[in-house]
Amino acid sequence: PINEVKLEFVSKSSNEAFARVVAAAFVSQIDPNIEELADVKTAVSEAVTNAIIHGYENKVGLVKMTCKLYEDAVEISVTDEGKGIEDIEKAREPMFTSRPDMERSGMGFTVMESFMDKVEVVSEVGSGTTVTMFK
Ligand code: ATP
Ligand code: MG
Repeated sequence: PINEVKLEFVSKSSNEAFARVVAAAFVSQIDPNIEELADVKTAVSEAVTNAIIHGYENKVGLVKMTCKLYEDAVEISVTDEGKGIEDIEKAREPMFTSRPDMERSGMGFTVMESFMDKVEVVSEVGSGTTVTMFK
């Protein structure tokens, strides 16, 4: 990568806005338009929220975000060392949520996929999840 930054924060929902702003500031160096910037912020917000509420189930843990800049692309990954995802394919389906009780709509991954060019999910039950997004 041409540039790279890493951010580590405790899994507090107030840090979601912080991560979103950091990602936007990083992406700003490639002169994105307002729409592209909004897309990145929304996608980061979904990934970080998932790490906090699903990965760590609102308990204390560390969330890591890495932003990488390439010649013609930006890569942002969000990692938690939480519970992990049993069935990734199912989790990515529109409207699938394991927490209907929390009034979740199951649209987070769908939003990430529609606002970014590519979304990769690597996860292991008991060790955690990394979501990597490209734009
Ligand atoms: P919404 O994002 O619309 O509020 P949601 O979070 O349930 O609802 P998605 O973001 O699409 O929907 O995630 C789908 C499901 O994948 C979640 O319900 C959860 O079971 C699982 N999941 C997503 N991210 C993680 C994660 N970091 N750790 C563990 N499970 C996750
Ligand atoms: Mg979600």
